[in-house]
Amino acid sequence: MAESTTQKYDVIVVGSGASGGWACKRLAESGLKVALLEAGRPQSSANFSEHTPAFELKYRNLAPEIVRKTRPIQSQMGDVCNEYTQDWFVNDIEEPYTTPADKPFNWLGRLRMTGGRTNVWGRVSLRFSDWDFKAASHDGYGEDWPIGYKDIAPYYDLVEKYVGITGMAEGLEELPDGQFQPPMGLNCQESVFRDRVKQKMGRTATLTRSANLTQSLNGRGPCHYCGPCERGCVTKSYFNSAFTTVADALKSGNCTLVSNAMAFKVLMDADNNRARGVLYIDRITRAPREIQARAVILCAQSQESTRILLNSANSQYPNGLANSSGVLGHYLMAHVRSAGGRGEFPELAPSPSLSAPIKPLGIYIVRFRNMKGNPPFKKFLRGYGFECDSNFDFNWGAPGFGEAYKKAIREPRAEFSLTGFGEVLPRWDNFVEIDKEVKDVYGIPVLKIHMSDGENEKAMIKDIAESAGEMLAAAGAKNIRTRANPSAPRWAAHEAGVARMGSDPKKSVLDQFQQTHDIKNLFVMDASGFTSNPCQNPTLTIMALCVRSCDHLMDEMKRSNI
Ligand SMILES: Cc1cc2nc3c(=O)[nH]c(=O)nc-3n(C[C@H](O)[C@H](O)[C@H](O)COP(=O)(O)OP(=O)(O)OC[C@H]3O[C@@H](n4cnc5c(N)ncnc54)[C@H](O)[C@@H]3O)c2cc1C
Ligand code: SF4
Repeated sequence: MAESTTQKYDVIVVGSGASGGWACKRLAESGLKVALLEAGRPQSSANFSEHTPAFELKYRNLAPEIVRKTRPIQSQMGDVCNEYTQDWFVNDIEEPYTTPADKPFNWLGRLRMTGGRTNVWGRVSLRFSDWDFKAASHDGYGEDWPIGYKDIAPYYDLVEKYVGITGMAEGLEELPDGQFQPPMGLNCQESVFRDRVKQKMGRTATLTRSANLTQSLNGRGPCHYCGPCERGCVTKSYFNSAFTTVADALKSGNCTLVSNAMAFKVLMDADNNRARGVLYIDRITRAPREIQARAVILCAQSQESTRILLNSANSQYPNGLANSSGVLGHYLMAHVRSAGGRGEFPELAPSPSLSAPIKPLGIYIVRFRNMKGNPPFKKFLRGYGFECDSNFDFNWGAPGFGEAYKKAIREPRAEFSLTGFGEVLPRWDNFVEIDKEVKDVYGIPVLKIHMSDGENEKAMIKDIAESAGEMLAAAGAKNIRTRANPSAPRWAAHEAGVARMGSDPKKSVLDQFQQTHDIKNLFVMDASGFTSNPCQNPTLTIMALCVRSCDHLMDEMKRSNI
């Protein structure tokens, strides 16, 4: 028998990451009583280690096999899940998922911490445009989103002004400009690359629009270029919902954070077809508990929110809550990120230094395939952008020893690398379901994930490598190497689409306000609702959509529709 809290809230928000943080801030600052259920522990500056050298750690960050014991999946992103941060991540043994043997899928970036993935994210913050929202009308594949750019533009403005995004305005229809803080400068490799690629190929490489401050904002300091944002930031210079949106919500006095609360299922009042609360497991005591509210918002990250809905199946909704369409769990999308290229610009390399400032972002090449003004590209639909890294370093791989080695290692290196991030088409046969055979340590059935590259993705991956090589050559790079690997098992941690939005309740789970078609007081405000997954990184759009949907929820509450 689950113990129940006596207090009744206006809204329960599940998950405190990019979406959940905004939901709590928007609703609590408007006066609603919010309970925030978060599976992870509280986050604090005491956990941040961006200035801690590896030699101060017990294993000097040189023993990945120790991290692998409990996090064999998460540690495959060794740059973010390592000795510094491993306990921010899910224990893969305690909380597994399954896949078919022939479809390996690394479900990466599963955080168990206030702030969710925003603790470690790459912070690239790009708007979608009507080329994305109305892509189906352009090329006939899939469904248009039930909203257009004008519906979300004011919310992009609102979110960007609060988050703080450094960027350069470019005036492009396909990548709309935003409310930018002053741009971080480009280094010489980036400037040369940008100029030559524009001049010779007409393509735009711009400063990566990134959630790193260049000016103080709401008590947060500007970035001081120390580098490893994924280990936290004591000056709060990058956007992490733990110390921004969630902190604001708590400060309002209207939000209660319930940590270590693993939501299991949404509880229903079957007579009225209303969600009445959430059953969760206390991760410390393992006791089941119930909490009640007028409305429930799932913000636990795409697959996690869908897992909760599937696990909430009941006699009225035998295939999963709010799943009268049968679409829930289907159309899983991520981004392909397994192709790209690298080259060197030896003439641009400065003398290497161990204490040089480290710019926490590089440049971004804007999508150029299947865009306005060009005939449709014959090999695949949609497109990709590139995230680029510019690296000045010592020649660590120099051969030899003694004096000659000391000299060789000081030879500067200037390497420039491009990684393509490509749109994955929404396909029915990429999906998640409950694995009835396997439960996590809390007794909650786990997900089985079915995901593979389709023909469109395969053709795109090949083209990403070819165009990376062409652009590096156009920019004058030497020693150019390209790569084109299958996506599996490591896709970008940008999963979306498993409870998609649409105007037709027979073909979608959510409406344009991320309200389930079936149950009026149940919402899913993470990327589950994406109708397609454009190549731009998703989080800015997740946050803007969430604020828009919260405003709708509050209107509905005022009209007593919820
Ligand atoms: C290494 C890395 C780099 C990334 N870089 C970028 C980038 O550059 N740009 C970009 O746009 N995106 C990036 N992303 C993706 C981005 O982090 C996510 O899109 C975003 O954080 C998703 O927000 P969310 O609210 O859906 O989920 P999250 O931010 O993941 O938050 C979900 C929260 O829900 C909690 N939770 C999960 N299940 C339950 C449950 N059952 N009960 C209670 N709580 C639960 C989790 O503990 C977590 O705190 C990156 C992700 C990773 C891992
Ligand atoms: S690089 Fe900037 S944003 Fe990142 S941790 Fe250092 S100061 Fe913070």
